[in-house]
Amino acid sequence: MSLPYAEPLTLREPADLVVPEPPRRGESGGGPCGACDWSDRADVLWSDEHWHLHNPGSTSLRGAVWLASAEHVDSFSDLSPEGQAGFGVVCAKVDRALLGLGDVARVHLYRWGDGGSHFHVWFLPRPLGRLDMAGHLLPVWEDAMEPLPREEIARTGERIRTAMAAA
Ligand SMILES: [Zn+2]
Repeated sequence: MSLPYAEPLTLREPADLVVPEPPRRGESGGGPCGACDWSDRADVLWSDEHWHLHNPGSTSLRGAVWLASAEHVDSFSDLSPEGQAGFGVVCAKVDRALLGLGDVARVHLYRWGDGGSHFHVWFLPRPLGRLDMAGHLLPVWEDAMEPLPREEIARTGERIRTAMAAA
């Protein structure tokens, strides 16, 4: 694992605590929830009654997508029992669709939740052979690298849409 920056980096102290924390998108005072108003969005590649899968507006990783719950909840434990039970099945479909793009070594899944309060996870495919990007630093590489052209993100999204429809 490595960072996309030259060494030596210097360690810094954590910032001061901010309590209470500022509201996130979708919380009172934090701006509208972009994931609740999703049904007519062109970036939705697939959906069912519990989940919708989105193509990102910008990414440097071919095949990166994000999955959000249909219901506005914040965490795994707030999901309905049906949503909780179906999560693994949906993740497996997305995993297969992204591996099917080719030249993908592994599909990583992460959930931070610090930006928006609507439950969502990201799938990040690590490009085949990019061992320097292995592991938990892949999102840092994604941020540091040049974004892919929008046309390529759209083309890849269409392939994922087709694979999800066939799954
Ligand atoms: Zn929401």
